[in-house]
Amino acid sequence: MEKDTDITKVVRQHLQMENFFTDGFMVRSNKISSESHNIEQNEDKQVEAELEKIAQEVRKCAKCGLGSLRINAVPGEGNPNARIVFVGEGPGADEDAQGRPFVGRAGQLLDKIIAAMGLKRSDVFICNVLKCRPPDNRDPRPEEIISCMPYLQRQIELINPEIIVALGAHAARSLLNNNMSIGRLRGQFHEYYTGIGRPSIKLMATYHPAYLLRNYSDDNRKRVWEDMKKVLAELGLPVPKNQKHQSK
Ligand code: URA
Repeated sequence: MEKDTDITKVVRQHLQMENFFTDGFMVRSNKISSESHNIEQNEDKQVEAELEKIAQEVRKCAKCGLGSLRINAVPGEGNPNARIVFVGEGPGADEDAQGRPFVGRAGQLLDKIIAAMGLKRSDVFICNVLKCRPPDNRDPRPEEIISCMPYLQRQIELINPEIIVALGAHAARSLLNNNMSIGRLRGQFHEYYTGIGRPSIKLMATYHPAYLLRNYSDDNRKRVWEDMKKVLAELGLPVPKNQKHQSK
């Protein structure tokens, strides 16, 4: 009986979340702000080629113990000219099997969040702090983060996005080099420092989609949406019409 009640609750919550992130949403047909980006096509090609070089290094990487456990490394993927880079914690089983980031349940929710923002997955770049799956999806270890971080730093440097969205505490803490809780980090912009003398990049931390799936509540869902609305506002992008009323 107890079990039946739980399943009903989970299904109801799932459907609510599904509606919230997809209801009547229309994907924008124009590429995001292609005029304002104004980067030559061959520069894009160069960045793409450099990103591919990093991906090849990642696929051969044996800097930490995770390299020997992977089926596939998961370097990341997306638009080399993205205005937003989403950074997660590390690949799970689905990502390890396919060699692509955020393709499991959490990834499906991330896709919905991106769609709710009026964007397509191909508009943004998606990657992780760790490029190989930790066994049983355990938390990343400090030495793994230290080994893997240079790949992420180089990806961010090449793409040079206007905003980084850190998904969950591990991504936010690794990028901001602090130990604060996601509850305190989320909801406001932080600065990600790319190096001495270089301009910083704005970073928005929010709950990891997997956390949202595990700890579904109206409040948590709205918090993520509030965070994403701040990202849209910072980029000068409109909140898609059908989402406006839902977050109040
Ligand atoms: N969780 C992550 O942090 N990254 C993925 O790629 C998938 C799930």
